[in-house]
Amino acid sequence: MNTTRELAAIVNRCFASGSSSGQKMKRIFNIAMTVLAASLFAGCASERDGSANWYYFGWMAEAPYAPVFHVRDTESSLGPYAEQTKTITMKDLVKMHGHPCDGLVTAACAMKVGLDVLYPDGVADRTDTGCITKNSPCYGDVAAYLTGGRIRFGTQKIDLSLGDEFILYRFSTGKAVKVSLKPGVFPAPVQALEDKIRNGKFTDEEMRTCQQIEWNYARDLLQHPLADSFDIQTLENFKWTPDLYEHLGKRGDVINKNR
Ligand SMILES: [Zn+2]
Repeated sequence: MNTTRELAAIVNRCFASGSSSGQKMKRIFNIAMTVLAASLFAGCASERDGSANWYYFGWMAEAPYAPVFHVRDTESSLGPYAEQTKTITMKDLVKMHGHPCDGLVTAACAMKVGLDVLYPDGVADRTDTGCITKNSPCYGDVAAYLTGGRIRFGTQKIDLSLGDEFILYRFSTGKAVKVSLKPGVFPAPVQALEDKIRNGKFTDEEMRTCQQIEWNYARDLLQHPLADSFDIQTLENFKWTPDLYEHLGKRGDVINKNR
């Protein structure tokens, strides 16, 4: 019993019953597991790799399944298409998003799973990809950064019906995939504490505990092959319809990308 995921699995096995008493016991057990999980990982997931990189974690840099992305863009404001590619790491994502959170790690892993299917050669075209997420700052930021999708150009969309799910669309081929975090991967104790904090009645200690167990979950996610944590399906006959937006415009940098 040495990972948050195993703790969550134990919770689910012990309290699979849907009865009200079972739910009550599950909640109590979740709280106990929250404290236990936080204490098990205290001091290991919070270490950061030096003062210049205070915002980043060593465990994120060294994780065996931390995704690395290769992307292609245009060269300048009116094209043409760049021959060379760029590499984007988790550290780049943290700098863009502002903090190393569980949502960032979840979204990055999901993007990796989806982009590898849309771009079998391993290089994602950020002029040719749309993304759809729920209205999470973490999910939306990561999806936009890695796909090049933007609300203002009609290439990024928000779908409030989505949970821990991500839709990626390649405009030139019309192929769409949906990547979903598998049920039970996000630990119930983390969810319970997040819900409490969102409801506004919590202590500073609980906020710190929540932060720690979110990082523990993220750390654990990067220790497993992504296929263990995510499902992917192709969406047949998917139709892309841009969200309504007052200032919807057209990207000028891609108009000459094929010259
Ligand atoms: Zn975040």
